Amino acid sequence: LPHHTGVVSHVAVDIGGTLAKLVYFTRELNSADNGGRLNFLNFETHRIDLCINFIRQLKEEHEKSNGSNSEGLCVVATGGGAYKYYDRLKNELNVNILREEEMECLIIGLDFFITEIPNEVFRYTGGDDEPLEYAEARPDVYPYLLVNIGSGVSIIKVSGPRQFERVGGTHLGGGTFWGIMSLLTGARTFDEMLAMADRGDNSAVDMLVGDIYGMDYTKIGLKSTAIASTFGKVLRLKNDAERGAEDGEGLIRGDPGEANDSSRGVKPNPEDMSRSLLYAISNNIGQIAYLQSEKHSVEHIYFGGSFIRGHRQTMNTLSYAIRFWSKGKKQAYFLRHEGYLGAVGAFIRRQP
Ligand code: ADP
Repeated sequence: LPHHTGVVSHVAVDIGGTLAKLVYFTRELNSADNGGRLNFLNFETHRIDLCINFIRQLKEEHEKSNGSNSEGLCVVATGGGAYKYYDRLKNELNVNILREEEMECLIIGLDFFITEIPNEVFRYTGGDDEPLEYAEARPDVYPYLLVNIGSGVSIIKVSGPRQFERVGGTHLGGGTFWGIMSLLTGARTFDEMLAMADRGDNSAVDMLVGDIYGMDYTKIGLKSTAIASTFGKVLRLKNDAERGAEDGEGLIRGDPGEANDSSRGVKPNPEDMSRSLLYAISNNIGQIAYLQSEKHSVEHIYFGGSFIRGHRQTMNTLSYAIRFWSKGKKQAYFLRHEGYLGAVGAFIRRQP
């Protein structure tokens, strides 16, 4: 529930395939200097009713503090849901809904974060096991690439202020991770999935270069720990387990509850599968992003979208992919409010 000491003046909502992101501004009631704050929160899109209820409460607060003869609350909507739920929003909230184009909002939001907000943009410099170390990004120069990892992935080249083109994307995105993870692991929340990935060991299911060569493949620059094939080891290990795997080599860490069920073999550990899938999705996006950056001659690559969720393994994988493929020439950037680019863009675009 909203419980502000301030006055709500203006609301923007970016309704995507999975999440509805809400941004609103509250002015402090007792402050002389017109100060205020931006508030961020999200709802699952399939519970759009909760989101609408929340906006209704903001509207009531707005009316309470502004009197009934003031202008109504301004609600700006973007994302696919701005179309899909337009009538519902309008009828259930009884306000005017201003619609804004999604890509435009993403870019306006990102430009705002890059140029106006200190400590928003950072590079991920930590290794997997090192402590987090954020480095400030300098205000960016055009052109740059935005890789927005939501349910699906959009790759947008930005050539100047409000000058952009969607150059590509992939449907192997955050929604793919979310969906397959729910099938593989039974995890129900996204954070649970990320926590499982943190505990996992992908070498239990992935076929590594070392599994094939028995050593590094230095001639072409591949370490023995490089992934040759995501999930590439699973069936062989399953078959080994079913045969009894007397040599022991093929044994994998398995769910003990199923270990004795020889008809089904050993099901790989959910944590290990989680890590493997997280690597697969992020490495794939990292490589596509790099190739697009080459094709369009761009040095700086910004990653946004709720899939990233400040998760270090995800950021590490994306950063590593960009560094590896560009031989250190290109740089991946991240944002603290990575999921809210579109909502912030919509908010700014219609600022009263
Ligand atoms: P969209 O606009 O398509 O909804 P988002 O940028 O909101 O995209 O990202 C959605 C993705 O973010 C999901 O597919 C999932 O990978 C990840 N995610 C992060 N937090 C959550 C959450 N609380 N619930 C579901 N998915 C989440």
